[in-house]
Amino acid sequence: MEHPNKVAPSNVPTAWQRVLDTYALKYQRATGKAFEKPFVALMNGLPFSTVERDTVAEGFARKTVTALLHTCQQCGRSGRRRRHTRRYTVMCAACFSARALRADIAALLDDDAPTEAGFRPEVAWHEHELPPRIRGVIPSQIWRQTDIPGVGPVRYLGKADVQALAVWLTKLACLVDEETATAGSEAKVGAG
Ligand SMILES: [Zn+2]
Repeated sequence: MEHPNKVAPSNVPTAWQRVLDTYALKYQRATGKAFEKPFVALMNGLPFSTVERDTVAEGFARKTVTALLHTCQQCGRSGRRRRHTRRYTVMCAACFSARALRADIAALLDDDAPTEAGFRPEVAWHEHELPPRIRGVIPSQIWRQTDIPGVGPVRYLGKADVQALAVWLTKLACLVDEETATAGSEAKVGAG
């Protein structure tokens, strides 16, 4: 039996599959039988028990769900429930920051990105219109600055500036990928 308690859908993060396998084995040792069908499913990215009318199995399913809700689905370290772009995920701080930064970079480099934050990419990005994680990684010499009477200095980036940054931001997203792939090292990104 390969994965006795494979959840549906089948594309379960590897770190979570290890948790599922562990609890399936515990159940098997305790009861002498294997789960016949998936006992945990995912909804909106989060696990829930699908077991009914079986007290023992219900207990194992509940413990499995609790363990999953505290396991980073990316690296397997201790994590918690987090929300990003309307979807839930369970991640540690490092993996979540890295993923959010990658998503921010991808959205910024995509000219057709939704303008829900009020972006007007064809004009310029005011410093505070940029996602905080992006703002934190833009080199200080890149910013343009202008003085507005009565307001003071305003920092911004033009569309051409962002396009010029594209190669570097893409490279940064790759570095972040490599960093978080190495479990055990803390990726400190998005400060500022
Ligand atoms: Zn992690």
